[in-house]
Order: sequence, then structure tokens, then C-alpha cells
Amino acid sequence: MESNQYINDGWFFEVNELWPGMKLALEIEKVLYSGRSKFQQIDVYQTRDHGRMLTLDGIIQVTEFDEFVYQEMLSHIPLFAHPNPEQILVIGGGDGGILREISRHDCVKNIDICEIDKEVVRVSREFLPELGCGFDDKRVNLHIRDGNAFVHKQKNKYDVIIVDSSDFTGPGEVLFQKPFYQGLKAALKPNGIIATQGESIFLHKDVVASLAHITKELFVKQAYSSIMVPTYPGGSIGICLGSLGPDLKRPAREIPDKIQKQLRYYSAEIHEASLVLPYFAKKMIDEQ
Ligand code: SAM
Repeated sequence: MESNQYINDGWFFEVNELWPGMKLALEIEKVLYSGRSKFQQIDVYQTRDHGRMLTLDGIIQVTEFDEFVYQEMLSHIPLFAHPNPEQILVIGGGDGGILREISRHDCVKNIDICEIDKEVVRVSREFLPELGCGFDDKRVNLHIRDGNAFVHKQKNKYDVIIVDSSDFTGPGEVLFQKPFYQGLKAALKPNGIIATQGESIFLHKDVVASLAHITKELFVKQAYSSIMVPTYPGGSIGICLGSLGPDLKRPAREIPDKIQKQLRYYSAEIHEASLVLPYFAKKMIDEQ
């Protein structure tokens, strides 16, 4: 088997300063792709038990084993909380999984996606077709640019904005800061909703607190959803939500049978339940 700096004795080790003192390891059968883009190191692996896996700078972005949890929840919570989402923007999301989920909604008329790294899109389309297929929808318009710069040029345009960013370091850092959230707010229509990758209530308390603080200050309604994703650090990740109007607590629309049957994690019940947080996390967010 080919090897790289993240592989030792047939195992991939995710090591990152953002979650010090712990490593997640997955057994690898093959390195399917390895290359460096202008922004980051991109690798795709065939794991032994968790399907294919995409990593950026050695950090797991998706595995075929559990990607559905994150893609479904980050997409369908805001899309079903909105009574009629037609104009959608995705920031990041170069693997295409979020687009795949948005495409299930017939009411959606247009999906802009702004991803900084065209190589992530190319590699995902080639090596992760079950995610990359999201780009095949005719409603999708791909913009290769920094998401922060793109957002600040949009005004009063989107019903829902989904930020599927990598972590708060490297090119993703700017997407966790207040000026970006001010841009998101200005890009929304009056009834708009945002949903952003909100890191872990266990491992990134300062980031979660800061995102809660920013969204409480800028939006009319705010919520935080916590979900289980075994291959993310600590086994969980959060979704930070902000709304200029609609209630976030439950779906505003009936979930069509046609969509529900295609899903594995999202339902009206888990939408509501995921917003009920463990006491320490609730307290941390209430205090902001
Ligand atoms: N689900 C993943 C996770 O949380 O681990 C995120 C997946 S997606 C691959 C993240 C994408 O965000 C990457 O393709 C990365 O290139 C993109 N990205 C990072 N910073 C960005 C920025 N400033 N503007 C637009 N896209 C950005």
C-alpha cells in the first residue's frame, strides 16, 4: 500500500492541534488519491470498514460510513424550518453531499455554491460519486471563490444559507468570525435562515460559545443542534442556526413521504430532539 505522513502500519491517524491529546485512527486498505492544491493537502482513502474517506490537511471531512448524518441534518433542519425555501446558498461544501440533500426539495429553484478550492470538487466528483453527484443538479451554480468575499457581495437574496466549512483554521478560519456572519445576515431575505458547521460542544467550547454569541446578537432566533457522527472528533458535531423570522424548533412544513423514505437520520422528531442539549452545553449557550 502507498503511504503518506498520516499513515502508520496500515492505519490513518488524525492528529490535530484543534483537539489536542486525542487521535482517531481508521484502518486503510488503499490510498486512492493524494495531491496538494493551492489551499490544502487532499487525500482520499479506501478504509477497511468505513467506505471511502476524504481528508483535508489530514483532517477527516467525510467517510461513506456516516456522512449521511451531517449532510442530512445540516441541510434539512434549515430547509424544513423555512416555509418555502427557493433561493439557497452553500458556502464550502466542495464534496457535494449538502447539494445532494438540498436537491431533494422540489420547492428549491436555485442553488449557488461558493467553494474556495476547485480541486476538492474535482476529486470528490471522481472518487466520491455518491456525494459528488450533488453537482449534477441543473439548479446548481458553482462559484470558485473565498466564501467570505462572495457573501459580502450578496444582498437580500437567499432564503437559506448553509455553511459547510472545514474547521476554524486555514481557509475556513474566516468563516467562524463575526464579519462573515454580518455578511450572511445581509445576504438573507427578510425571513431567511442560516445553518453553519458548529464544531463540538465537548471539544470546542470557546468556538461554540462564540458562535452562539454572534448569532444571538445578529438574528431574531437562534438555536444549536448537536448530532452524532462517529468519525468526527469526539463523535459529535454541532449546527449553529440563526433565523430572521421562522421558528427553528420544528419543521414548518410536512416532510413529504417521498423525501422521508430517502433519508436515514433526519425526521421531524430528530429535528426537535437534536436542539435539546446536555445541561452544560445549554448553560454555556444560555449565558451568551
Ligand atoms: N463536513 C466537513 C467537515 O465539517 O469536516 C466539511 C466538508 S467540506 C469538504 C468543507 C469545504 O470548505 C472544503 O472543501 C474547503 O475547501 C471549504 N472551505 C474552507 N474555507 C473556505 C472559504 N473561506 N470559502 C469557501 N470554502 C471554504
